[in-house]
Amino acid sequence: MTPTALVAAARDCRTNAHVPYSKFRAGASVHTDRDEIVPGVIVENVSLGLAMCAERVALFSTVALGARPLALALVAPRTGKDLTWPCGACLQVALELGGPDMPIYASSIREDAPISESTVGELLPKGPFVHR
Ligand SMILES: [Zn+2]
Repeated sequence: MTPTALVAAARDCRTNAHVPYSKFRAGASVHTDRDEIVPGVIVENVSLGLAMCAERVALFSTVALGARPLALALVAPRTGKDLTWPCGACLQVALELGGPDMPIYASSIREDAPISESTVGELLPKGPFVHR
């Protein structure tokens, strides 16, 4: 699975995001250990605390399918001027399920936007993790 294909899947599913309040249309995708792509989108709610990030939707769906994540991609509008990376909560879930070496790809919403790469461990260096 190439980063380009994984990011394209995250970009494509953004159209399904439920963002009536923020209009922050984010999409994510997971490459699983079954060589599948699992999409996720941000889902907002009028009770704002119930919103869920696209990355956790994709990661939780991966678990529901009985698979494990090998890589995670996020495509979202920029936050201020900066590329948007997964939030701390999503990184903690990614650390639990994929470990510190799991690649994270981020790109902005333009089709031709470059892809940036990091790892869970680089983005959440002190996150609690139990090796299993
Ligand atoms: Zn998040």
